Amino acid sequence: SGRINSIPMAPPDKILGLTEQFNADKNDNKTNLTVGIYKDNWGQVTTMPSVARAQAMLDQSFEMNTDLSYLPIKGCPDFRENVLRFLYRESCPQGVELLNQERISFVQTLSGTGALAVASKFLSLFMSHTVWFPNPSWPNHANVFQINGFKNINHYTYYKDGQLDVDGWISDLEKAAKSTNDSFPPCIVLHACCHNPTGLDPTLEQWKRIMDKIHELKMIPIIDMAYQGLDTGDVYKDAYLLRLSLDESRYQWSNGLFLCQSFAKNMGLYGERVGSLSVVTSRGAEEKRSVDSQLKKIVRGMYSSPPGYGSRVANIVLSNPHLKNLWFQDVENIAKRLQSVKAKMAERLNWDSLQDPTRQHGMFLYTGLNASEVNTLREDSSIYLVQDGRLSLSGLNDSNIDYVCDALRKLEK
Ligand code: PLP
Repeated sequence: SGRINSIPMAPPDKILGLTEQFNADKNDNKTNLTVGIYKDNWGQVTTMPSVARAQAMLDQSFEMNTDLSYLPIKGCPDFRENVLRFLYRESCPQGVELLNQERISFVQTLSGTGALAVASKFLSLFMSHTVWFPNPSWPNHANVFQINGFKNINHYTYYKDGQLDVDGWISDLEKAAKSTNDSFPPCIVLHACCHNPTGLDPTLEQWKRIMDKIHELKMIPIIDMAYQGLDTGDVYKDAYLLRLSLDESRYQWSNGLFLCQSFAKNMGLYGERVGSLSVVTSRGAEEKRSVDSQLKKIVRGMYSSPPGYGSRVANIVLSNPHLKNLWFQDVENIAKRLQSVKAKMAERLNWDSLQDPTRQHGMFLYTGLNASEVNTLREDSSIYLVQDGRLSLSGLNDSNIDYVCDALRKLEK
């Protein structure tokens, strides 16, 4: 028999499997709190008003056939200009100096996942074979890095007894550094804000301790910024980790810094796959040109060039001052609704045995429920959470929050 007969079964995607089960569930009160897609107070996934207007403008400007051609390998030049300005002038003003020194290599990517894929491929080819993720983390992190050539996948302590554990985190990194004589620097993935799944983020003071240690240990920082704006409602405020990390009076990243950025959540462009990878190089233009050339080769070999439509929509939002202001408002509305859902849950529940939602950032509530409690919710009430107890807050609204809180209350001992 051929080799194709002996392919082992890959484990199913846990979250998407739950959605299939949800779709087949006949209970009228069924509630899907699994997937990280924003839904409004009517349970709908809607296009943001700013994005819908940009789409309308794009439709009007369509000329026959012209817009279906290929984009360049590294993406649309206008997108590049708009996103570089958004990230390295507006979100992080000290980036201007880096742009002037021609130290930022940039590619438009297939959203945040695509940015992580290109980054991990590049890093495994040239710089590193060890990566550290928080425990827990978005499960696809380890998958992406493994698929793209990383041999050593590790997790640092992040969460303990319902709290962020910064001391445990730092001591894990120190211990690992002492016990290795690898000549390749290790990478570390950092959630820029709204940590998925715990919703617990370090404070700025804690980030300083953490980044000081990462810098001292000469690790390569990879900032995963998938939820910019969904924490405070202000896209610029939420870029605090980028601003701290690129403060050159404090840190010089001798092996570069990688930023994987996504417009999936903050523009609602999920399926259009709009995002970017930027590599901040340590020295001037020559180093950047080499990195550029290798990123281009990787993209060419992986998928040739990114899709066009979503990046054209983002271009209009980012470059039209009226729509940009509207977008800021849209993001703020999302963050406010998420905060109000958390406040309503906090009122209705006793948080001795569950996580206090008002301390958590972003789209998710890490409830602290164990797998058997999650099963009980699903079996008895048709309320679907991810097995680790992660609850997607935007699935809650005025029509189901009482039902869900009643079911949660029944679990309280
Ligand atoms: N990183 C984290 C932590 C995420 O939660 C997600 C999405 O759920 C992503 C990256 C990437 O999402 P996308 O590829 O849709 O931009």
